[in-house]
Amino acid sequence: MTYDVIVVGAGPAGSTAAYDCTKQGLKTLLLEKYKLPREKPCGGAVMYRALRTIGEKIPPELIERRIYGLRFLLPDGKGTEFISDKLIGITVFRDRFDEFLARRASDAGAELIDNTPVVDASVSSKSAKVRLADGRELSAKFLLGADGVNSVVSRALGLRPKRKELNKVGLGMEADFHVGEEGVLEATEGNPSILEVCPVDGRVSYGWVFPKREHLAIGIAGAGVHMRALRPRFDSFYKSVEKRLGVKLNLEKRRTFFLGGDGLGSKNVVQRAILIGDAAGFVDPLMGEGIAYAMKSGEFAASVINKAFDENRYDEKTLSEYQNLCRNEFSANFALATRVGVRGPSLAEIILPKVNGHKLAAEIMTMVARGEIGYKDIPYVVLKRLPRQIPTIIKHVVQSHLATPN
Ligand SMILES: Cc1cc2nc3c(=O)[nH]c(=O)nc-3n(C[C@H](O)[C@H](O)[C@H](O)COP(=O)(O)OP(=O)(O)OC[C@H]3O[C@@H](n4cnc5c(N)ncnc54)[C@H](O)[C@@H]3O)c2cc1C
Repeated sequence: MTYDVIVVGAGPAGSTAAYDCTKQGLKTLLLEKYKLPREKPCGGAVMYRALRTIGEKIPPELIERRIYGLRFLLPDGKGTEFISDKLIGITVFRDRFDEFLARRASDAGAELIDNTPVVDASVSSKSAKVRLADGRELSAKFLLGADGVNSVVSRALGLRPKRKELNKVGLGMEADFHVGEEGVLEATEGNPSILEVCPVDGRVSYGWVFPKREHLAIGIAGAGVHMRALRPRFDSFYKSVEKRLGVKLNLEKRRTFFLGGDGLGSKNVVQRAILIGDAAGFVDPLMGEGIAYAMKSGEFAASVINKAFDENRYDEKTLSEYQNLCRNEFSANFALATRVGVRGPSLAEIILPKVNGHKLAAEIMTMVARGEIGYKDIPYVVLKRLPRQIPTIIKHVVQSHLATPN
């Protein structure tokens, strides 16, 4: 059987791309290694701009919590909050959210086959091929590698051979703690609509506490080289959260994970094939946020493939339009995140207290999370709004000076 497009991996990237390809009239096969719904280590925070990519309502039963704010806890124990009156995201369980995206693609007409690992992939001027674990070989005109951070497709095509080098990837551990609805309300002081990000062991990594309906998603992540004693670090982090929030946390299952994030510096396209999402390394290098980038890159890949079909061109040069689209959309965000990441929490420690509770900062955070602006637009928005904001800023600075003990 020959397809127009074979998509390997039914995560947010692959399912978004499969949906868009199908909607464009392409005969699309979506292959998933595990039986759906499959587990995925993740904090489960889906920012609003990712929801915009779907362009339709998420079934309410998938929404664990509606998110209206971010809180950064600094090493001195103080917190900086950005609260919005607009929805900036939701929390979900990834097994159910990802299955929804995969079924949405198959409902649109894509052929979805789960429980079917791809073990090899190849491209030639005539076709793209994948080999399944049971030995079958399938071919298509295009191949999309959406098989996550340890992508088989990327390795088979020679695009990312050294994926697991610890100095190049992030590493982390996370768990969902069942505390009941009451426990979530207690831990969040009655406001379970804020994502909390906190330092771990000083400067090398960060942790998170995300509210779900009856669970707290708690995890730590950082550069792989700094995360070798992962298990004791994670245990000491969640125990510190337990103490701080005053809620008993019963550990059921720790999950370890890699995080990629070198997408814009790498080649993600060869003739007849494109890497998307984590397989391409499109993860915010600072916070590890990747769902929105995965979905957007899936959308870009589908649009480039559609155009290539129209023009009957399958070469690398035609498909490299995809890299330009991703670069334009993601580079400012990734560059800023890398700069902050390199300077480490020290930069955050300087900036965050100064903008705590500031209306303009909260507005900007809201616009970025909702996908109304990218990081690169922030200076422009600040300059545009500044004249109106100057009296408030002066008041804010004076007040925070008066409040700071000498
Ligand atoms: C612990 C952790 C916490 C995170 N928290 C957040 C968060 O809160 N918010 C956020 O936005 N991002 C978060 N991220 C990042 C986010 O999870 C990823 O960026 C996102 O899942 C990328 O989507 P994807 O579709 O590219 O890959 P994935 O979601 O990894 O999907 C890849 C799919 O391919 C399948 N697959 C793999 N190999 C094969 C194969 N050989 N054959 C067939 N199928 C295969 C996998 O089973 C999987 O279903 C987190 C990441 C981690 C690790």
